[in-house]
Amino acid sequence: MSNIRPIEHVFAPPAPHMVGDGFRVHNFFPGQIPKTRMSPFFLLDYNSKIDFSPSKEPRGVGVHPHRGFETVTIAYHGKVAHHDSAGNSGVIGEGDVQWMTAASGLLHKEYHEKEFSARGGLFQMVQLWVNLPAKDKMGKPKYQEIPNGKMGRHVLDASGSFMEVIAGNYKGTAGPAFTFTPMEVYNARLTKGGKADLSFPAHYNTAFLVVEGEVIVNGKPVTTDHFILFKNEGTEIILEATSNAIVLVLSGEPINEPIANYGPFVMNTWEELEQAVKDVNAGLFGVLED
Ligand code: MN
Repeated sequence: MSNIRPIEHVFAPPAPHMVGDGFRVHNFFPGQIPKTRMSPFFLLDYNSKIDFSPSKEPRGVGVHPHRGFETVTIAYHGKVAHHDSAGNSGVIGEGDVQWMTAASGLLHKEYHEKEFSARGGLFQMVQLWVNLPAKDKMGKPKYQEIPNGKMGRHVLDASGSFMEVIAGNYKGTAGPAFTFTPMEVYNARLTKGGKADLSFPAHYNTAFLVVEGEVIVNGKPVTTDHFILFKNEGTEIILEATSNAIVLVLSGEPINEPIANYGPFVMNTWEELEQAVKDVNAGLFGVLED
């Protein structure tokens, strides 16, 4: 193919760190690339497969604030529960997604679901932070629960390979997530030998995370837990599975605005970060019990 999109770099998983006591994550970005490099996506924390022992007290992250962006949790194994000060709560399990728009600000907590916690078991998740454009940063918080059955499903072959569309549109199959800026978020779920071709505008920042199995991406073999960053040139990507595989596909139109980040806030200026801290201390993010 003539208009192939070249790979810029394949990242091995960096050393993990704990988020609270429930999430052992590899931060693929922004840690290893410039803050705007994957815009509109700001952060990708990947909890690679880990076996949690049974625990009476659910592991997780206690009450904390967010402002200026969205947290998107994609569950591959295990179950997580969510509560926020906007009054939303939910549980997502294998294959489900929770898309929380913090926007002007809320408090939330993220925990292993009670029964999963008591049983223990295999856990694997992605948390993605999706930035908002300045005009939407101070909008109303929003919560979208996206169970697996509501996702778009584009069949790729007779052996069971399909593109699961969370946001955006793959060859006419749309995803259910509402997004503030144009982006594509899919899980390519391929059986051994399965193949998918993808095409995104060259200026869309684009990356894959291999969540399961072994794949060949534009001729290059890539294995589980590796992150593939593409250059912003060319459009076409050929993905082939050499074992049963799951690949998280991310591509989005960059938000060309300055980024100021401090902990759980993603704004445009330092003044706005200072204001966020003041507003949390003034109780403007609402109330949520521990
Ligand atoms: Mn959070």
